Amino acid sequence: MTEVGTLLTSEGSVGTIFDRALGAYLGLAIGDALGATVEFMTPREIAHRFAAQGGVHRHIIGSGWLKLPPGQVTDDTTMSLALGDALLRGERLGRRFDTQLIAEAYLAWWRGKPVDCGNTCRRGIQRFLRDGSLSGPPNEGDAGNGALMRNLPAVLATLGDDDTFERVSLAQARITHHHPLSDAAVLGMGRLLRALLAGADGQALARHVAALVDAQPAFRFQPYPGRASGYVVDTVQTVLHCILLHDDFEAAVTTAVNFGEDADTSGALVGMLAGARCGARALPQRWLGRVNREVVQRITDQASALVAIALERQAVATIN
Ligand code: MG
Ligand code: MG
Repeated sequence: MTEVGTLLTSEGSVGTIFDRALGAYLGLAIGDALGATVEFMTPREIAHRFAAQGGVHRHIIGSGWLKLPPGQVTDDTTMSLALGDALLRGERLGRRFDTQLIAEAYLAWWRGKPVDCGNTCRRGIQRFLRDGSLSGPPNEGDAGNGALMRNLPAVLATLGDDDTFERVSLAQARITHHHPLSDAAVLGMGRLLRALLAGADGQALARHVAALVDAQPAFRFQPYPGRASGYVVDTVQTVLHCILLHDDFEAAVTTAVNFGEDADTSGALVGMLAGARCGARALPQRWLGRVNREVVQRITDQASALVAIALERQAVATIN
């Protein structure tokens, strides 16, 4: 039985896993909303802009290159919500983990005119629209972080089942990104999230991070190279650096977004892992209270429904 599987043997643990799953999903949105303000800025520009508060960006104020209202999230969160919707729709239709439904959800998301959409995501969605393909060919240009940033719902819905976790994660990823580094990041980060949802402590987290870097040495991050671009290697290095440097949610996410560049995505992913670690109840209220209410509601609904899929599958597997 997996780490998650053993958690399901007591009532209290089920409550804990729901709290961690919600913490991860809300943490993703918080990091996205905080980081969007400084996306594409350099650390030096951020320090200058926020000189009046010690040179550190630390409040959810919106604005940024997308001119967002405070608390609005970007593609990192809204593509995750699209994936979550597709997985839940699959349950309702009796088409569990159907990649076609995921691609349709990404297309509907794109047609809804999101505030932003990365080039590789757009290209993949347009390819699906054109010829119905659910995966592009391997492509040197697909090593961005767009598939990585949105994989959380696939992790939640497949808890306790390694093979299905890998299959669904790679299927959703390759609709837009087909590159070994993207694949490795999606699976490696997903495994970290699974470990934290199962209650991994600091030592266990360090072991999982070491395994991730062993499996793909391009992700080595010590000493930290200090780049936080949309290249998936930079993103993974930044996320690993921040999550190991700080136990505290606020410190980890603040550090991530102040590296600038793809700040919303590194903020989102650090928020996801740190939120899984601390649980929803421990998230800083001064940030959570600023996130768009509708987004918080959708996340709350999805988090429990996605974990419920995993629990139901586990229960069926146990009975059989
Ligand atoms: Mg974004
Ligand atoms: Mg971004």
